[in-house]
Amino acid sequence: MALIVQKYGGTSVGNVERIRNVAQRVAKYKAQGHQVVVVLSAMSGETNRLIALAREMQSTPDPRELDVMISTGEQVTIALLAMALKDLGLKAKSYTGWQVPILTDNAYTKARIEDISDEKMRADLDDGYVLVVAGFQGVDGDGNITTLGRGGSDTTGVALAAALKADECQIYTDVDGVYTTDPRIVPEARKLKTITFEEMLEMASLGSKVLQIRSVEFAGKYKVKLRVLSSFEEEGDGTLITFEEDDNMEQAIISGIAFNRDEAKITVQGVPDKPGIAYQILGAVADANIEVDMIIQNISKDGKTDFSFTVNRNDFARTIDLLKDKVVPALGAQDLLGDTKICKVSIVGIGMRSHVGIASKMFRVLSEEGINIQMISTSEIKTSVVIDEKYMELAVRALHKAFDLDQPKG
Ligand code: ASP
Ligand code: MG
Repeated sequence: MALIVQKYGGTSVGNVERIRNVAQRVAKYKAQGHQVVVVLSAMSGETNRLIALAREMQSTPDPRELDVMISTGEQVTIALLAMALKDLGLKAKSYTGWQVPILTDNAYTKARIEDISDEKMRADLDDGYVLVVAGFQGVDGDGNITTLGRGGSDTTGVALAAALKADECQIYTDVDGVYTTDPRIVPEARKLKTITFEEMLEMASLGSKVLQIRSVEFAGKYKVKLRVLSSFEEEGDGTLITFEEDDNMEQAIISGIAFNRDEAKITVQGVPDKPGIAYQILGAVADANIEVDMIIQNISKDGKTDFSFTVNRNDFARTIDLLKDKVVPALGAQDLLGDTKICKVSIVGIGMRSHVGIASKMFRVLSEEGINIQMISTSEIKTSVVIDEKYMELAVRALHKAFDLDQPKG
């Protein structure tokens, strides 16, 4: 007998019929003698609908009230699933985040989980109940309702698995696993049987939207055995997220190609090349709570240099305004340039640690396609480049092929 946490995303609970299917799957696991805790998202589209409704009332909705509102989507699905399970003759009980309770800090709309009490859940599990817990929701120390950020139900699932020391956390979604890249761009993309936790972390942060990044961090920290599966298929093992030390299979050098169009590039031209400049520019950006990703500074000519960095596209206008008003005049910079038509393409793989020349192969492939690289950043297990957005698909396809990701591994 195992304790299994199953998390189902919005499309998997998109209507009553699908919720009945989820109930059938849960019943199957229960019949095998397992204890099951189910974590649910809201029906697909519901959270967006609620946010839009709040915005009709207030252009910038009050964060506390927004969380009261957007947490309701999950409360609907847990009740419906509990009903469906009871109809199948199972003992089932729904739990909101605050009934568990899942204690968080008070950062509305992006709260972090601080503590999960497992006593009530354990007692119910021992009594034979299937527990159906609302994802995405928490409660702060003062009893205020909080939510965990978009996609936060993944994190609820993983956090519950950690708190209950579950044998496995299964994330059911509308794809059947983690792919070498997005199959909508490269039809030859393959499903990975396994991916290491570190690679998954890179893939998630670089734009693969299969899992919320926080959930992957959580899984890493608490060593939760995590598996991504399709809720629309009866069979299949999905993709298992492994830890390097317990993974002695032959690893590909590159596991996947990630990409995103979420960033924009800003260049401050002709700044004096002297101590304190990076701090003056990026300090002001950080003070405005804007996250910076890639940064490059050129060598100087005549004591002046150019300084470029990327921010999320949503923060682009705000960053430009802030630099224009305060920083550029104070620095005596020559010009301020912005480019929102960029994308970031990355190759990811723990094999890069032990193989040289991987990054240069990437650069060669891009040059053969005539694609100009604007920025580069590397870590132990990834190399990312910023290129013109219009070449994104071409770059991803060429790299996928060049690194043999379309070839099944023996
Ligand atoms: N319903 C929330 C969202 O759409 C949380 C989730 O589905 O994971 O972001
Ligand atoms: Mg999701």
